[in-house]
Amino acid sequence: MLRIEGLDVYHGYVQAVRGLSLHVKEGELLAILGANGAGKSTLLGTLAGLNKPVKGNIMFKRTGDTPKDITGNSPEKMVRQGISLVPERREIFSSLSVLDNLMLGAYHRYRSDKATISNDVGEVMEIFPALKGREKEMAGTLSGGLQQMLAIGRALMAHPKMLLLDEPSVGLAPLVVREIMSILSQLKKTGVTIMLVEQNTRAALKVADRALVMERGTITISGSSAELMSDSKVQQAYLGRA
Ligand code: ATP
Repeated sequence: MLRIEGLDVYHGYVQAVRGLSLHVKEGELLAILGANGAGKSTLLGTLAGLNKPVKGNIMFKRTGDTPKDITGNSPEKMVRQGISLVPERREIFSSLSVLDNLMLGAYHRYRSDKATISNDVGEVMEIFPALKGREKEMAGTLSGGLQQMLAIGRALMAHPKMLLLDEPSVGLAPLVVREIMSILSQLKKTGVTIMLVEQNTRAALKVADRALVMERGTITISGSSAELMSDSKVQQAYLGRA
């Protein structure tokens, strides 16, 4: 579904992604692991159109479509192609209501698709029952876990084919992390392809089909979740086992 070849991305003079190549199959949940500063957020940002690569290309193919070159597309174009980002720190609008935050996720089809939008809000509430009845509450008053659910819900309002999540578990209690991960598994079953950036390696490997480790902007280890779980380097560096 997604194929990246030889990607180089810079922030000014700092090279954050170096000659990176990867692919994601349709319906797959791919975890991207690695330490702070490895380039994980930059990679997701590039797929969401927020960072422009200087080299390499990104091809995206939806079922029945011919592959499209989406390298360097604007964020709006990426959303229209079916790629939605749930950013790190969630970036919900604290002083807007839960409902308004969700509506913003559908802004690109607000004119053409008004009728289905309220239906979609209902569907998001089915996925996240904890948000039900809180539509009018200010998003900033929600707990961290509910804000994360709202951020995912907002991304789903765009009808993504591919969901990019940047550290959804950050700052959340273990029980809430489990809830979020279980929701990601459910979403996968509905056919959404997922790229999950996580520092919570254990939680990510539990839900992912495949995973890769990024170091200094490039992929150093990749394999099935089971393979990474039993890899001694992953165990030492990312699972806290000696
Ligand atoms: P983290 O979990 O800390 O976000 P990460 O693996 O997502 O880590 P990135 O945020 O992509 O890593 O950062 C990769 C490199 O790019 C780091 O060296 C970082 O300092 C640098 N970098 C990231 N954003 C910027 C920016 N806006 N300006 C300058 N350098 C940046």
